[in-house]
Amino acid sequence: LFISFEGIDGSGKSTQAKMLAEALRDDGRKVVLTREPGGSPGAEEIRALVLEGDPDRWSAQTELLLFTAARRDHLERLIDPALSDGKTVITDRFADSTRIYQGTRSGDLRDMVDQLHDLVIGREPDLTFLIDMDPDLGLSRAKGRGGTEERFEDFGADLQHKMRAGFLELAQKHPDRFRVIDGTREIDVVAADVLSVARAALVS
Ligand code: C5P
Repeated sequence: LFISFEGIDGSGKSTQAKMLAEALRDDGRKVVLTREPGGSPGAEEIRALVLEGDPDRWSAQTELLLFTAARRDHLERLIDPALSDGKTVITDRFADSTRIYQGTRSGDLRDMVDQLHDLVIGREPDLTFLIDMDPDLGLSRAKGRGGTEERFEDFGADLQHKMRAGFLELAQKHPDRFRVIDGTREIDVVAADVLSVARAALVS
């Protein structure tokens, strides 16, 4: 089973992805926990190219091509082989992040995002957890965590609100694969919710 976690920065999706991986390993499953942008050595190099250094180095189009190249490498080298081995793959972000981040920041890119996806990726997770949260709460959590949130700061609150709405719209459009999880609750409560949905999906 191929599972993704999506949400705006600070939503707690990385924590939840990690907790789900641990819980499923405790169930005796073979789990690969990975992330995007990145996830394979080549894709991590591309992540650094995009996220570090001068934020104006790449045009929006070039950035989209780089993210798509990274995803292709991640799929070829890590995700597809693990799924073929019967492992459960959990990724912290996948194509929905590109639809929302690149598609929302440059509205005119949304068609290009979809066309590139069809051309070189062509697959969706079986199950996507959208960890939903008010961006104002997410922002304060992300800041509290420290780390490399420069880009987050750049996005600003308005854009974060737009992206949250975008994720919710995407979830509504694809109810077969999305589960919207209220991320404002206690971490353990959210994790229990996620685990029960994942377990049910794994046996069905
Ligand atoms: O999820 P993570 O914190 O690793 O993402 C790193 C940064 O890349 C975040 O600031 C996020 O906003 C940004 N990002 C992006 N476009 C994507 C995925 C992530 O701009 N498709």
